[in-house]
Amino acid sequence: MLGGTFIEQFRRCCYLAGVEWELKSSWDSADKKKVMSFAEDYKKFLGKCKTERETVSWAVRQAKKKGFTEYDGKPSPGKKYYFTAGEKAAAFIVIGRRKELRIAAAHADSPRIDLKPRPVVEDSDLALLKGHYYGGIKKYQWVNHPLAMHGVVFKQDGKRVDIIIGEKQGDPVFVIPDLLPHLAAKQMKKTAEEVIEGEALAVLAGNTPSRRKNGSKKRFKLGLLEILNKKYGITEEDLTSAELELVPAGPPADLGLDNSMVLGYGQDDRSSCYAVLRALFDYKTVPQNTLAVFLLDREEIGSVGKGGASTSFLENVFAKVCGLENAKRLLEDSKMISADVGAALNPLYKDAYDPSNATYLGRGVGVFKYTGRKGKYDSSEATAEYFAWIRNVLNKAGIPWQTGELGKVDLGGGGTVAAFLAKHGGDVIDMGVCLLSMHSPAEVSSKIDLYNMYRAITSFFKEK
Ligand code: MN
Ligand code: MN
Repeated sequence: MLGGTFIEQFRRCCYLAGVEWELKSSWDSADKKKVMSFAEDYKKFLGKCKTERETVSWAVRQAKKKGFTEYDGKPSPGKKYYFTAGEKAAAFIVIGRRKELRIAAAHADSPRIDLKPRPVVEDSDLALLKGHYYGGIKKYQWVNHPLAMHGVVFKQDGKRVDIIIGEKQGDPVFVIPDLLPHLAAKQMKKTAEEVIEGEALAVLAGNTPSRRKNGSKKRFKLGLLEILNKKYGITEEDLTSAELELVPAGPPADLGLDNSMVLGYGQDDRSSCYAVLRALFDYKTVPQNTLAVFLLDREEIGSVGKGGASTSFLENVFAKVCGLENAKRLLEDSKMISADVGAALNPLYKDAYDPSNATYLGRGVGVFKYTGRKGKYDSSEATAEYFAWIRNVLNKAGIPWQTGELGKVDLGGGGTVAAFLAKHGGDVIDMGVCLLSMHSPAEVSSKIDLYNMYRAITSFFKEK
């Protein structure tokens, strides 16, 4: 006999009959050794690749080691190629026996603070570098936090200067100084959006004046420029042809007494970059279908601009391999994954989520029919048929997955590259690791989800 109310009895019966879908923590059945070892490799990658350029360069270096080459005009099954769009977007392709396309695309850019075109100023005996935020950040999270500077400067003659300051032992770091609480009575009344204003995103960069006799009156600015010139051979004008990004300094860390999570900057979307690259690089045999990984730029500001998903980069890559008409036809029949992170339910802010349609840390890779905002604006939506196909792939391979929405319907939202991939006509679905504290200097992922994302992409590539 079943106990409980009629409703409880009914629910239990449904569960017994397998009609109810119950989600549990994937840690219950995890191969912890494999999970932990994957996370170690991931952390090394994450600590090294803090900009889109660094991520793309890393990927190309790894690809070369794995036998990928530039395109030679003679594609045949098993051949591996890489293509780049500048240094900020790249494609990696393994030619299959049949020509159906399986594409996984992630974005290599992350929210950060870029230096302004004329960043060097001085005030109150301090040299400062002024910043301009890129992507959707809560500005107040970025103050009083050690920042590193990563990027490149191109001199007028084309000579390239690489700069990384703030990562090595003994390196100086930068900081945006916030106002002390003692004097913040007015500031504390402002809304969180205004409490740190865009123009207040400047980092401290020096406090020693130039000792030059007939120099400018701005001795602290000059002092900083002299150091930049001495160390890197660059001038103030050279900073106009530069891409210098302020990002959280230091390596990612294990989080929690059980070391089950990763705390680190840039996991949106480098957790996906790493998973899709590893899945492709670890592919050992000649694939049935042609496999492709794309690392794209500018997703965080709408995928527009060079290297972004709205450009013809994707189509051009396949046009090179099989001609434009063939490429268009193949893309129309392709299966694609927009590999991007989801938002896991934050127990401290439950109000922002619909708990029955939220995703949870450690409950598997997030698979999303659509993203977007409010009435599904700015989103692509996977067809029911394609979701069924993906579900089958994951379930057959025993990969834990979950689904949901970004948060409560009216609260906000966000897009991915899915809509831009969909314009080519193929099937697209969003898939990724679900994070806490997304877009902050310290994003949180669960190691089990990172590993399962890699497994999910692997089985997507393997599926015939
Ligand atoms: Mn993203
Ligand atoms: Mn993002």
